[in-house]
Formats: sequence, structure tokens, C-alpha cells
Amino acid sequence: MELTPKLAAKFETLENRYPVKRSALVPMLLYAQDEYGFVSDKMIEEIARRLGLNTVQVIETLAYYSMLRRKPAGRFHVQVCTNVSCMLRGGHQILEQAKRRLEIGHKEVTRDGVFSLEEVECLGACTGAPAMQVNYDFYEELNPCKFDRIIEELDAGRKVAPVARISGAVHERHAAETPLISKRWGLPNSHTLEVYRKNEGYLALGKALTQMTPESIIEEVKKSNLRGRGGAGFSAGMKWGFVPKDSLKPKYIVCNADESEPGTCKDRPLMEMDPHQLIEGMAIAGRAIGAHQGFIYIRGEYRYVQDILDRAIEEAYAGGYLGRNILGTGFDFDLCTHTGAGAYECGEESALMESLEGKRGYPRIRPPFPAVVGLYGCPTIINNVETLSSVPVIIREGGEAYAGRGTPKNGGTRLVCVSGHVNRPGIYEVPLGFSMKRFIEEVAGGVRGGKKLKAVIPGGSSCPLLRADEIDIPMDYDSLAKAGSMLGSGGMIVVDEETCMVDLARRIMHFYAHESCGWCIPCREGTSWLRKILERFHAGAGRPEDILMIGELAKNMLGRTFCPLGDAAAMPTISIVNKWKHEFEEHLSGGCPYKAAEALLGAR
Ligand code: SF4
Repeated sequence: MELTPKLAAKFETLENRYPVKRSALVPMLLYAQDEYGFVSDKMIEEIARRLGLNTVQVIETLAYYSMLRRKPAGRFHVQVCTNVSCMLRGGHQILEQAKRRLEIGHKEVTRDGVFSLEEVECLGACTGAPAMQVNYDFYEELNPCKFDRIIEELDAGRKVAPVARISGAVHERHAAETPLISKRWGLPNSHTLEVYRKNEGYLALGKALTQMTPESIIEEVKKSNLRGRGGAGFSAGMKWGFVPKDSLKPKYIVCNADESEPGTCKDRPLMEMDPHQLIEGMAIAGRAIGAHQGFIYIRGEYRYVQDILDRAIEEAYAGGYLGRNILGTGFDFDLCTHTGAGAYECGEESALMESLEGKRGYPRIRPPFPAVVGLYGCPTIINNVETLSSVPVIIREGGEAYAGRGTPKNGGTRLVCVSGHVNRPGIYEVPLGFSMKRFIEEVAGGVRGGKKLKAVIPGGSSCPLLRADEIDIPMDYDSLAKAGSMLGSGGMIVVDEETCMVDLARRIMHFYAHESCGWCIPCREGTSWLRKILERFHAGAGRPEDILMIGELAKNMLGRTFCPLGDAAAMPTISIVNKWKHEFEEHLSGGCPYKAAEALLGAR
């Protein structure tokens, strides 16, 4: 098949990038789709031939990823998010406007082929909700008029400028903030090597390579009490220490930049405004465990962020911070980005490795853990963007100084992205242990419209919800666990008194049912049944016995699934049905007392 020169060049780079050719599969499919609008049968054959696969292998992988399609979409593919953060700020209103304006429904294309429409799950723009993407461009803080203007301009062959960086990340600093990893945000050209170097950039790498041993780097990270910022909260230093020193196999550092937990969008600004900080953190991590190759696995929707990272990686190579003989010390470290193609499940570390190997993102049975048997069967450390971005400051200032900024066992600062019904949605860096109540009331400006607080999702939609009377607690891993919830991925969603909790439970379950990979029965059947029951209940057709059944079904998923998605779906549901049972009972007397449907469409 004859490829465009641009695509042929991309394919050639990808074919030579990975230790195992098949790893190039998902990026090749996505880049081919970008070029031709969809993945044709001929393209499938071409990619299979180049990677030494058969077409069935390509097709079964393609079918797993929600961003990949085998039929053409419109020239402008409009994707409107209605997940929780967007839903609370009018996402459904935007979707209805889109249907009216374009005269098409979900996954349909206009007759002239110019537009197509899709209702999508969280895009990673929660602090700019409601949000949408047109092709890869983000448009945030939408309203129906703004939506119409964007469409009109596109229709006329022009383009309204998309957001250059996520809404809510750059703001006047609140006195409670302690910017360590976000301190360069908002500086002009903060993404460039020049600005990074003027602001302490790559000092830590120099120190790690010339004054420290791999063991002392790991010790310093252990001393810092840095815990994984992706959700699990496991000690980063301890994880690094699990990598076998005597292994003769190659070792890998993988950055999990597949941020897709609803409510969470703090890795996006870390990469778009300070990519070199992440690159430096990865090179130091490589030195610590003896890895010479790193991958940044970034979610497919973050294409412009990937472009920023790619340019930063090029600069780092040119500056001698990546590649052979870094800073003249004899240490080699190569790094590249790798795009996902739409699968929440790939945020789980073993599923991410499968995906990076060019397969469906099914999780692996553990043990063995990735530190021993990971990517390509080799020892691998997988850390989140925020975790790795925290490494340079730890090495520069010392682990104890970093630990001292948090609480015992919870070192340093945390990026909290707060969305939903607050006056100042945004991304704020506060010391671990900062009061949740003060954070919502003071930093995020309190509940908007003078309304009362009803609930808080503390760290992404998989966390058990807290009532308004439960939030006077420090925000650290242990205090949240004691309160029956989790700090999670730092994606806090604030819910006001006028929100229907049955509807919220319905929307959360809709997401997990959509994202379940279907491999294990409790998750596949549990999420799909819970979605149906919650939808029926919310529509006013619930039965009294459903209330107990919702809780029991969710409890039966807990701890019985291959990966944490089953728990992630069950935990918020259990908390909602326990804490707001009266709202379920109120629905029994005929429909939603909160008039959620009308509210979602902006009639409230
Ligand atoms: Fe797949 Fe769900 Fe099982 Fe995870 S818990 S493996 S997402 S079916």
C-alpha cells in the first residue's frame, strides 16, 4: 500500500523504536487513522505485514481501543464529555446543543461528512468543564453559545483557537500553596530547556550522576516518603528497591501518563508546562535501578501534550541530558513517548505493559510484579507522572527536606485538581496533610452559588464519597483511609446540595461499565447489571428491593476481580447507597425529586 511520505516516515521510526516490533502496533493504527480518517482493511494488511503479524492479531487489538475506528468519522470529530465533572457543570447541555446544532446523534456523521459526534468519557479537562475535543483540540469552559461559535467557524473553514493549556492550572497562588513541582507553571516558555535550565533544571540529574550511587538515590527517595501519586500510594523508593540488581536482563522505566480517572487532570499540566522536569525524573530513576531505556505511555487524547514532550525530549538529547554518555558520566539513557488509544484500563500498570507491547490492555496476574517481571518480561518500574516529576526536587533538596513538607509517612506536596461545584476549579499544590475543609472553602473558593456542600469525591471517581460532615480531615493517604476513603489520584470533585446522588451513582457506574474489559465475570456482569438497575431506578422505575440489591451486587465485586477496576466501580456505589439511602427511597415515589434530567439540561 502506498503511504503518504509523512506516515511512511512515522512508521519507519516506530518500526525501529522498540525491542519488540509489535509494540508499534497501537501508535501505527492511530497515526494511520489520523492520516486517512479511519483504519481501512488495506491499512490493516499493511501494518500486519510491517510488524510480522497476521490481520486477525491486528483487528483484535484494534477492536479493544475506543479511539480506533474502521469507518470514517467526520472531518471534524466532535467529542463531548459528560462524565462526572463535566456533567456537574452542564456537559449534557452541551451534548444536547451538539445534537440539535449538528442534527446528528451519538456516533453519527453529518450527511456532508463534515462533522461527527460522540459522547465520550473523561477527557482529562475536569477543571475546564464542560469540555470537548474536536479532533485533538481541547475546548473548555463551554456553554451552548460558545459551542455554536466553534462549530460555525469550523463550518466556514476557520478555527477558533483551542486551549493552549488546561484551564485552572495557572492562577494566582493561594497562600496555602507550596509550589514545588508546579512552580514553573505560567513562566513564559516554561516547557523549553532554556527556561528549565535557568530554574534549577537538570541540577538534580548532575548531582545524581556525579555525587550519588544508585543505592544512595533509592535511599534518598525512601527518606522522602514519596508515595505513588497515581492512586495506590505505594512508597516509590521501596518499589525501586525491589528491582533485582543482579538481573542480566534489560531494565525499563515506564511513566504512566495515561491519566484517565474521572476528575483527574493534573498530569496534563505537569507535562505541558514542565516536560523537562519529568524527563529529568525519569533519567534519575533510570540511574537508580540501572535502566537505560524509558517510555512515557501517554493517553491518546493528549496529542498536543505528546508533541510538547517529543520536542522536549529532542532538546534533552541535544543538550546532553539523554542519550549516550549523559553529562560526560558514561551513563546512557534513551527515552521516547508512546501513545495509547483510549482505554481507561490501561492506567493499571500490568494492563499498560500489555498495551505497550502492542496487545489488548488486559491486566496480568500478579505476582510476579513488574519490578521483577515487567515489560518484555524484564524488570520494570512504572510510576505516575507526578511521582516521577517529584524526583528532581527530592534529589536537589534531599529526601528529609521533602518529607518534612508533608506529614509522617506522607512526604511532600500533592497536586489536587478540584472540579465540580466550586467557585475556583483548578489545580493547586498543597502540602500533604492540608485540611480538606480549608482546601474546599478557602483554596477552591467554596461551593458556588452560595449553595451547601453535599458530597466530596476526594481523589477520582473510584473513591468512596464523603458527606459534608466528614471533610474536616487532613488530606493524606492515611487520614483518608481512616475516613473510609482514599486520596486516590488527586482528582477531587465537589458536589452541591441540589445534586441527585442516584443520578451521580448512575453516571459513575455508566463509566465503569463502559470501561470494563470484560475479562472477569464479577466486573463484566456486575458493572453492567448495576448500570441497568441504577438507570431504571433513576428513571423512576425502581423497586424497594433494588436498594439492597445495588449494595449487595457492589459488595460482591469487591476484591473478586483481576484488576482494581471492579473495586473502583464498587466503592463509590457502596458509599452512595449507604450514605444517601434516603435519596433512593425518595425516588420510589415517582422519579427524581431533584429533577436531575432538567437540571442537567440547564433548566435549573
Ligand atoms: Fe477487566 Fe474488570 Fe476484570 Fe479488570 S476487573 S480485568 S477491567 S473485567
